[in-house]
Amino acid sequence: MLYTGSCHCGRIRFEAEGVVDSGLACNCSICSRKGSLLWFLPRDQLRLLTPEADAATYLFNKHVIKHRFCPACGIHPYGEGAGPDGKAMAAINLRTLENFDLENVPVKHYDGRSA
Ligand SMILES: [Zn+2]
Repeated sequence: MLYTGSCHCGRIRFEAEGVVDSGLACNCSICSRKGSLLWFLPRDQLRLLTPEADAATYLFNKHVIKHRFCPACGIHPYGEGAGPDGKAMAAINLRTLENFDLENVPVKHYDGRSA
């Protein structure tokens, strides 16, 4: 499947290749505030359609995850980091996909607050 997504104003647009089998709801300090539902995939399956520099970056804690967000509309479409094996990964906020039916996606809960 090829999915497309964007922030609210369209300054950040992207395509993602893969199959969304579930969404991760995390209760850590940032995910709980954003209300995002995350889908993890290898970074090379995420293709930005807008310049990378148009997205702002938020870092906290150990600074290992780049939380990308739109400085104009404030929406957080994706984040970037490394998996346990060191491979570049992306986490897409499923709520920012276009024409995507979230109702049929099983939600998994992750206790990021305690991790
Ligand atoms: Zn925006």
